Amino acid sequence: MDFRLTAEQQAYEKTFSDWLSGNLPDALDPQGSGHFETDEAWGLAYRAFQKTLFEAGYAGVHYPLEYGGQGMGMIENVIISRVLATACNELRIPGSITFGMAAPTIHIVGTEEQKREFLPKMLDGAHIWCQGFSEPNAGSDVANIGTSAVRDGEHFVINGRKIWTSFAHLADYCMLLVRTDPGAAKHRGLSYLLMDMNLPGVEVRPIRQLTAESHFNEVFMEDVRIPVDMLVGGEGNGWRIAITTLMFERVMGDATMAATYSASLVRLFEMAGTTKRSGRPVIEDPLFRQELARAYVDVQVLRCHGLRSLSHMVSGGVPGPEGSIGKLLWSLAYQRFSEAALNMQGPGGQVMGGSPRSIQAGLWQHEFLMSKGGTIAAGTTEINKNIIGERVLGLPKDGSRASRG
Ligand SMILES: Cc1cc2nc3c(=O)[nH]c(=O)nc-3n(C[C@H](O)[C@H](O)[C@H](O)COP(=O)(O)OP(=O)(O)OC[C@H]3O[C@@H](n4cnc5c(N)ncnc54)[C@H](O)[C@@H]3O)c2cc1C
Repeated sequence: MDFRLTAEQQAYEKTFSDWLSGNLPDALDPQGSGHFETDEAWGLAYRAFQKTLFEAGYAGVHYPLEYGGQGMGMIENVIISRVLATACNELRIPGSITFGMAAPTIHIVGTEEQKREFLPKMLDGAHIWCQGFSEPNAGSDVANIGTSAVRDGEHFVINGRKIWTSFAHLADYCMLLVRTDPGAAKHRGLSYLLMDMNLPGVEVRPIRQLTAESHFNEVFMEDVRIPVDMLVGGEGNGWRIAITTLMFERVMGDATMAATYSASLVRLFEMAGTTKRSGRPVIEDPLFRQELARAYVDVQVLRCHGLRSLSHMVSGGVPGPEGSIGKLLWSLAYQRFSEAALNMQGPGGQVMGGSPRSIQAGLWQHEFLMSKGGTIAAGTTEINKNIIGERVLGLPKDGSRASRG
């Protein structure tokens, strides 16, 4: 298969890149969310920029016109995503769950009303969404959730608690997995609801992370009344819809992660060229050169995997269990090269951003700490290896559990 862009696609990429260079927010530093004073400011910057993209006809271009898209192909969408990932990844992160998971799930399994109501609001930046699946006793084993939804006339009444809910503190809506039938087998008693985060009874409490930021939260729900037309896929079908969302979660990085990491590699090589160990730049040290080569190869492997995944989607496929391969590749590569960066800095690797002695404003210290969650979020490494073993390679089942995906 020929993975090169056609002349038309190349022209589209150039037009978009030219447009972007004149429309990126002035003060944008693509190197970190630390650039924004608060997460609220980060969310506002995301919404404003998404609106600019939408008005210029560059938001969710592969969605049909009636849902706010441009009716274009998947390739055009990927072209835009890649250019954005290279130029301003951090600015886009508050919308990653909105675009990577909520929009495709609603597009595939939502009702016509849900699509018309929500997709345009996601595309024009009016909405940020979050994913309310995990609970204290239901992470890998997400079907074990206890949050209950009891039908009361035209509403479901929700009581329970979610945890690790990324961007809940900024979100307008949540993809909420609930138990509607406590008597049924655990995968069968689930339903999937779209919850307005501003409803009475919803309380969001931020959780402090290793990096000292708070991008994820606990979400408490007490007698929250969600209208029944916010049900997706019918009562009792929540597990099937949740799996659809999880499959999209795992392939989310396939099209863009190589572009994001390529931008990081430039910074890594820059740092290796200017940081000295024993009097010479680390880039001249044969051992560190091996680490740099490894980082480069990791990014190329990701790029090829992304292209394979893209060719599957372009030919009409939907994400399946093979999405776990990309998830493993990006999360492990991210940990490897942020750790390599700290090794290259030697004792300086302990100096966080904010100190006059920090290197590249503490970028790699931040990335190193952030990368730890990468092998937990979107299914842990062990769970993804189980999925690849059982559902891609056809190996015998791990008898100990029924897990996330
Ligand atoms: C940065 C970040 C963002 C997140 N964002 C969200 C979000 O927005 N929404 C959301 O719903 N959740 C989110 N999560 C939660 C995430 O999905 C869970 O943390 C994850 O599924 C693991 O669940 P757990 O933490 O309960 O660990 P557990 O499931 O308790 O796992 C503990 C350990 O046991 C291992 N283990 C468990 N079962 C098996 C098995 N069958 N075979 C082998 N090993 C096993 C795991 O690999 C892990 O090492 C986020 C997590 C992180 C780190």
